[in-house]
Amino acid sequence: MADRVVSPKPTEDEGKFELSLRPKRIDEYIGQDKVKENLKILIQAAKTRGEAIDHVLLYGPPGLGKTTLANIIANEMQVAIKTTSGPAIERPDDLAAILTNLRAGDVLFIDEVHRLGRPVEEVLYSAMEDFSLDIIIGKGPSARSIRLKMPRFTLIGATTRFAMLSAPLRDRFGAVYRLDFYDLRAMETIVHRSAAILGVAIDATGISEIARRARGTPRVANRLLKRVRDYAQVRADGAITAPVANAALAMLEVDALGLDEVDRKVLRAIVEKYGGGPVGLETIAASISEEADTIMDVYEPYLIQLGFIDRTTRGRVATKRAYAHLGIAYPESPQEKLL
Ligand code: ADP
Repeated sequence: MADRVVSPKPTEDEGKFELSLRPKRIDEYIGQDKVKENLKILIQAAKTRGEAIDHVLLYGPPGLGKTTLANIIANEMQVAIKTTSGPAIERPDDLAAILTNLRAGDVLFIDEVHRLGRPVEEVLYSAMEDFSLDIIIGKGPSARSIRLKMPRFTLIGATTRFAMLSAPLRDRFGAVYRLDFYDLRAMETIVHRSAAILGVAIDATGISEIARRARGTPRVANRLLKRVRDYAQVRADGAITAPVANAALAMLEVDALGLDEVDRKVLRAIVEKYGGGPVGLETIAASISEEADTIMDVYEPYLIQLGFIDRTTRGRVATKRAYAHLGIAYPESPQEKLL
């Protein structure tokens, strides 16, 4: 899956490339205007009072800029940021070690915060709420619990699965923001900005071609830009125009809407094997040998955004639009669907 050119998740060797393109200031962060406005007020108010900002929860599909925003917040607050993730904090002790190393005002960024274990989460509650840590010292009958005060810090949690967060954890975030897929204009601005940073020659038609196929996801836009740049250097004169972008993306099997072979497999499974649905996620996953979690986090959000899949209580349903995109006639009557 890491090889998918349109995957919204970072590939292993993508870190440095992404870092070079990652906006550092809030005004450089394109789109998500409502979230940005809210954050600016939060930051300004905290700065004026000389306090740490409230704990912030960011949620939405991968690749939309949650990590970037967390770093921007720390940068704007002029504090240090410590980055970790839910699965990386295995035991309460691990969390205690991280927390006791924070200084006043620092940001602790926990990615995939829905994957924290229960015992770790429980330590986090009092840290978030009272800025105190309950630690058990010693073992057996002589063990005792002591309460350590810690400096006020800001927890920024990120998750692709809002519904999987426990209510007590969710309630301890003072600010909760959802990131949405970017609209075409924002995507064009992102491609334009990245091309300028990378020093790539690209015209307006090339920009919009890449922007349109990047699934409303900045990470995908940057990756497509990189791949099209390579193609332009080898097969054209280095400049990216619409025809060059088109040819490059066709070679990568990314279609006009940014769907790749796996997306089409998901759609075809629902349409061809299950009469258009409703069909359970697990069943779809098994029939195309993918993990249900991966489909839910990585493929499905964009297919829903396009209006190709509906999520119903009885399972996933392929819409008329999905049929049209696959070039398959839509069964108008239920009998026809069952054939
Ligand atoms: P997430 O944490 O949601 O998976 P990231 O914050 O890692 O996503 O963003 C992925 C990449 O997309 C970043 O490296 C950055 O270059 C780019 N990016 C994300 N959001 C924006 C934005 N609003 N403007 C410009 N580039 C962005």
